[in-house]
Amino acid sequence: MAVDLHLHSSVSDGTNSPGEVVRLAADAGLSALALTDHDTLAGIPEAAATADRLGIRLVAGTELSVNWPTGTMHMLVYFLSPGPGPLQDRLDGLVSARTTRNHQILERLADLGMVIEHDAVVAEAGGGVVGRPHIAALMVERGYVDTIAAAFDRWLGSGRPAYVPRRRLDAVEAIDLARRSGGLPVIAHPHTLGAGAADYGEAFATLAAAGLAGIEAHYSEYAPELRTHLARLASSLGLIATGGSDYHGRYKPGLAVGVGLGDLCVTDDVLDALDAAHRRGDA
Ligand code: AMP
Ligand code: ZN
Ligand code: FE
Ligand code: FE
Repeated sequence: MAVDLHLHSSVSDGTNSPGEVVRLAADAGLSALALTDHDTLAGIPEAAATADRLGIRLVAGTELSVNWPTGTMHMLVYFLSPGPGPLQDRLDGLVSARTTRNHQILERLADLGMVIEHDAVVAEAGGGVVGRPHIAALMVERGYVDTIAAAFDRWLGSGRPAYVPRRRLDAVEAIDLARRSGGLPVIAHPHTLGAGAADYGEAFATLAAAGLAGIEAHYSEYAPELRTHLARLASSLGLIATGGSDYHGRYKPGLAVGVGLGDLCVTDDVLDALDAAHRRGDA
């Protein structure tokens, strides 16, 4: 059977409720899913209740943005229970830093002639963690751009006129906090690190020494050769090659739970390997 270890709900920048995401995973015939909303575990209780009812396994997780000199690094942390903990206690601060940043992004957009009110963005986010996809959705609604992808490509993405960086943990600090919280840190979609594929090895080796558990090799935007390359690299460093769809509902059209763009398949043994690493971490 298959699993999907990277999914977003409306608690961050997805458009399905946590329960709906679990239902989509069950409907896709998966044996397990990980809910990995940005900077929050707020969707876990609802997702766990639905998972219980539908007989599918839920892995509690989150996705962090961390500092990395040459680009963007996202870190998935698995087996992180809601409640107090070294990493859990830092999440609220990351979410409130987003508020400052969102205001700055909206100021830049206003200067560029695109007026969007902060209240409208908060409403679009439905009470969850606000991210750029919510701003992008309103840019489409107001007719400033045709698609969410275009909003990022022209205005909101890194290096574009309305881009504002936000507060991040350092990569090694995030790994340490994750481990001390009983979580397993995994690098998400490593292409965003910016370094060429040839340079991945050195970055991963450094982070493996710091306690990294895995690399998301099975990502649907990757050609089969890159997935294989990343999986081999992971295994050569004693890391687990994980994978997931990065499903965001309507905010990332074209991606489906379980299969991503269509050909993704993350087998059960990936989660078995994460379970084994988790048990070793606890010991
Ligand atoms: P934020 O957390 O506010 O920095 O927004 C990051 C989220 O924006 C990512 O998780 C993606 O969902 C989305 N995103 C980033 N880059 C793009 C892009 N080029 N096109 C569409 N969505 C993007
Ligand atoms: Zn997202
Ligand atoms: Fe990400
Ligand atoms: Fe993601």
